[in-house]
Amino acid sequence: MVEVRLENLKKYFDNGRVKAVDGVNLTIKDGEFLVLLGPSGCGKTTTLRMIAGLETPTSGRIWFGDKDVTYLPPKDRNISMVFQSYAVWPHMTVYDNIAFPLKIKKYPKEEIDKKVKWAAELLQIGELLDRYPAQLSGGQRQRVAVARAIVVEPNVLLMDEPLSNLDAKLRVAMRAEIKKLQTKLKVTTIYVTHDQVEAMTMGDRIAVMNRGKLLQVGPPTEVYLKPNSIFVATFIGAPEMNLLEVTVKETGDSIVLEGEGFEIPLPSDFKELLGKYIDKTVIFGIRPEHMTIEGVSSLEHVKRSAILEGIVDFIEALGTDTIVHANIGSGNIIKVKLPGHIPLEVGSKVKIVVDLDNIHVFDKN
Ligand code: ADP
Ligand code: MG
Repeated sequence: MVEVRLENLKKYFDNGRVKAVDGVNLTIKDGEFLVLLGPSGCGKTTTLRMIAGLETPTSGRIWFGDKDVTYLPPKDRNISMVFQSYAVWPHMTVYDNIAFPLKIKKYPKEEIDKKVKWAAELLQIGELLDRYPAQLSGGQRQRVAVARAIVVEPNVLLMDEPLSNLDAKLRVAMRAEIKKLQTKLKVTTIYVTHDQVEAMTMGDRIAVMNRGKLLQVGPPTEVYLKPNSIFVATFIGAPEMNLLEVTVKETGDSIVLEGEGFEIPLPSDFKELLGKYIDKTVIFGIRPEHMTIEGVSSLEHVKRSAILEGIVDFIEALGTDTIVHANIGSGNIIKVKLPGHIPLEVGSKVKIVVDLDNIHVFDKN
């Protein structure tokens, strides 16, 4: 087990035209489960491949503890990698697939046998050791890939979207399993995904990347509650955070956010927070789940609130939740997420209660 430190790590392709990874500084703690989250093409795989030694950085350093591994070949790093495409060998049995990395390391036969059975038990594939990959389901094949990764007891476990080829139900089940396995083994893990739910449910911390840069690193709740940018705010959470352009106005003792066709009055204690924005235009953000509708659902937990009047424009009944789209003026549509079935009709007038302890203000860039 080891701490992994990335120091101003860069990888440019095509003579610098593609800045795949552009100055990443990140420390992954010993035993931590860190999720690298970001959209397709943001540089996640390239970052992981540099940590694995499969890609040489353009500049920067990679440390495992106090050892500089930047230019060390993969075989000398004691890392394991699990890919999206399971990459198990079709001509080998499950047993031989898992045993393979140990054979390469020339472990004695009895030790190989012990370790293969240990890893297979952990992944609950002890009954499948004689089978060939073609005789396995996608989920079982991925278990083999994970067993093969952990059998060497790596210092660092690297996973690149390992669940994205599985169907939705299996993916949810495997999330919990991989997380539990990692907790048990305490192996430093870097898990790449573009799926924000996977990141929220699995990571001890989430590192959000975009365009080769790290935007925010923190525990899931912190990244969710205190996003530091519009990108992070909208990438995490579904449906995504409502964003509205408003001008911050001072009115006597309090503050009003003036939008086109609507106003959000704020109590005086927001003066401190928003004082620097007075008479400026900013982006106001509120998550759909941080609002309710008067007379429709409970408001008990809301301490400070503002009311927005709207007209129901569209209703998405999801069964467990309902997403109400409301026009709050001048065609500004806001989405409100409410638990359960909501007996509202398109065209009806609603009073939207905004939980002011969960509002966000971003610079308009
Ligand atoms: P992600 O895994 O987040 O989807 P990648 O790390 O695969 O992103 O890619 C980041 C960027 O680098 C993309 O624009 C991709 O096209 C580019 N890229 C990745 N590998 C290469 C390569 N070998 N040659 C040129 N460009 C590459
Ligand atoms: Mg990738």
